[in-house]
Amino acid sequence: MHANNEIGTIEPISELSKITKEKGVLLHTDAAMSVGNIPVDAAELDVDMLSMSAHKFYGPKGIGAIYVKKGVRIVPFIHGGIQEDGRRAGADNVPGIVGMGKAAEIAMEELSDRVKKITPLRDKLIKGLTEKIEYVQVNGHLTNRLPGNVNVCIEYIEGEAMLLFLNKEGVAASSGSTCTSKALKASHVLLAIGVSDAAAQGSLLFSLGRDTTEEDIDHVLTVLPPIVERLRAMSPIYNK
Ligand SMILES: *Cc1c(COP(=O)(O)O)cnc(C)c1O
Repeated sequence: MHANNEIGTIEPISELSKITKEKGVLLHTDAAMSVGNIPVDAAELDVDMLSMSAHKFYGPKGIGAIYVKKGVRIVPFIHGGIQEDGRRAGADNVPGIVGMGKAAEIAMEELSDRVKKITPLRDKLIKGLTEKIEYVQVNGHLTNRLPGNVNVCIEYIEGEAMLLFLNKEGVAASSGSTCTSKALKASHVLLAIGVSDAAAQGSLLFSLGRDTTEEDIDHVLTVLPPIVERLRAMSPIYNK
């Protein structure tokens, strides 16, 4: 992955591509989380393939794109017709393609403004959460991180419970990624970076975007601390 979709860390892809190149191995990077959110240059990353998803930059769902370096051949996984130069059979999804193109155009224009607006909001939320709530750990790199990603573990309570109360306050967040949240399993990403199983249950992921305002951040910082206090009061593993 170019940027991790749970903890927001931006990975050193160009360093990795030096190694794969040396060994004669092709490198594909999943840039679904980075394209449209930070500058991405396939040539600079020096990858052979790079994929992206339109809805991560305000385009329609159900459409994505893959960059394939000249000379690299890929085997299609949808076989049949010869659409898209034989890379993907099936009628072209024209509305999706047009929608993604337009969203990419707007993202190009607005990218630096989005980054400038969202990054300080992210940092304000991280700072506020760690100052106002005890036993909070921030997951992922503090600076080498997606502008819109805030991922924390709030210890001694469960993420799902916090989400219910946050939802009542009009705050949409998630606990872990879509991939693990429904299964109520601890995030494999958090476990892989050394977070304990217990702490991983209390993970919260806030995704900030172009429409997030400073008032939104202040609202979260006002409503979350009492929610945490209430849940900890009921928690069998919290006895401070
Ligand atoms: C969202 C996401 C995907 C999935 O893309 P969809 O178009 O939603 O299926 C894959 N990888 C990463 C890193 C993502 O963030």
